[in-house]
Amino acid sequence: MADFDAIVVGSGCAGAVAAHELASAQKNTLVIERGERNGAKNMSGGRLYTHSLAAVFPEYKTEAPLERRIAHERLSFITDDACTTVDFSSGQMLVPNSDSYSVLRAEFDEWLSSKAESAGAEYINGIAVEGLLKDDSGRVIGVRAGDDEISADIVILADGVNSLLSKEAVGFKAPLPSTMAVGIKQVIELPEAVISDRLLSQDGDGAAWLFVGDATHGHIGGGFMYTNRASISLGLVATISDLFTAKRPIYQMLEDLKAHSAVAPLIKGGKVVEHSGHMVPEGGLKMMPPLTADGVMLAGESAMMCINLGYMVRGMDYAIAAGMHAGRAAAAALNKGDTSAAGLADYQKALEDSFVLQDLRQFSGFPHFMESTTRLFKEYPQMLSDVMNTLFVVDGRPVAPLKKSLKPIVKQVGLINMLKDVRGGIKAL
Ligand SMILES: Cc1cc2nc3c(=O)[nH]c(=O)nc-3n(C[C@H](O)[C@H](O)[C@H](O)COP(=O)(O)OP(=O)(O)OC[C@H]3O[C@@H](n4cnc5c(N)ncnc54)[C@H](O)[C@@H]3O)c2cc1C
Repeated sequence: MADFDAIVVGSGCAGAVAAHELASAQKNTLVIERGERNGAKNMSGGRLYTHSLAAVFPEYKTEAPLERRIAHERLSFITDDACTTVDFSSGQMLVPNSDSYSVLRAEFDEWLSSKAESAGAEYINGIAVEGLLKDDSGRVIGVRAGDDEISADIVILADGVNSLLSKEAVGFKAPLPSTMAVGIKQVIELPEAVISDRLLSQDGDGAAWLFVGDATHGHIGGGFMYTNRASISLGLVATISDLFTAKRPIYQMLEDLKAHSAVAPLIKGGKVVEHSGHMVPEGGLKMMPPLTADGVMLAGESAMMCINLGYMVRGMDYAIAAGMHAGRAAAAALNKGDTSAAGLADYQKALEDSFVLQDLRQFSGFPHFMESTTRLFKEYPQMLSDVMNTLFVVDGRPVAPLKKSLKPIVKQVGLINMLKDVRGGIKAL
């Protein structure tokens, strides 16, 4: 008999939720998390869409350490000295289940794991799982962590984007640099009221703000800012293959963004209290490995479940939903006494029926669009700035007809290229 019904590797969004579901179904569940504290090593820009959390924890609003409800979406196209911003707010964004909140992962993951523990899951912290145990047929029958070998009827890999185990489990090959981005972030502390005033938010609500263009010095990627209760999360995500050609390292780009006239006044006087860096899988559905093999399942970013659309990054709601479905399917397979790949087929089906695989399929063409449309990051922000300068700068010289002023600006990109890019963008979304 195995030591445990189930072992979950990693206690991020996917792992803690999978463990909660298994333990709630009375399965003897062990979570192994390499961080001394759950969430200590985890990172996101910081905005969580709540719908998937509500499906597992209907009471989350009164319990979860949520920072600010996001009431403003801002998207800025920046050049070195200009910024054109779209600011969107709507009642629909605030309706329960369509709303989103900024979160800080150290606190949020700690809460998620406390839910799994209260449901009965056991935790071992501070030890990394280094390998999988397999029987002669190749079926996964447990894990190797430090000097220990621990067996289980099912192992769920929720060990995130840098999974060392997914290759062993399902033969996942290392992703190409063009399908991976690097993300860096600083948390900048400021008084709660100062953040509300500077971001023009009401009732303690907050903003999600993305920056395209000079944030990454024209390279594929962008900057992000999320308002927490008493801090601001500010960072950059940039595609690795494109960063090779950058003249400045990414951490310098972040310092430049902090000094940009669109950002500096918002963080002025703030104290950097945290730095972090992490990979972001950007390849979408096309880079996803198989989700199951005999005795093992993958959930969250260990299976590359993440999308980066330039105006939004989503991974946490996918990880929570995948963790929920993985935990439930594993519990059902344990009840049937069949944790082979065939016995776990309900997991794939549940994800196919849910937003997780449907979204990833919907956006499967977007990574290629972003990679092949580099004008988005340089020429278009510049074009917008030139158009705005034409409209708003008054210097006493006679004003030329708008058509005449706009013609050379549009010509820099070319009308055909613009039409091609708009068409490509619409097709990819
Ligand atoms: C810069 C950046 C910005 C982002 N912004 C957003 C955003 O705004 N909104 C959003 O929804 N998503 C965002 N994401 C994506 C989101 O953070 C991830 O999709 C999400 O955290 C994935 O959850 P997970 O549970 O799969 O993995 P993780 O949260 O990475 O958890 C994996 C866990 O496994 C543990 N672990 C790893 N290896 C081992 C091992 N061998 N043994 C034991 N434990 C192990 C880790 O310590 C960790 O606790 C962002 C990501 C980055 C990097």
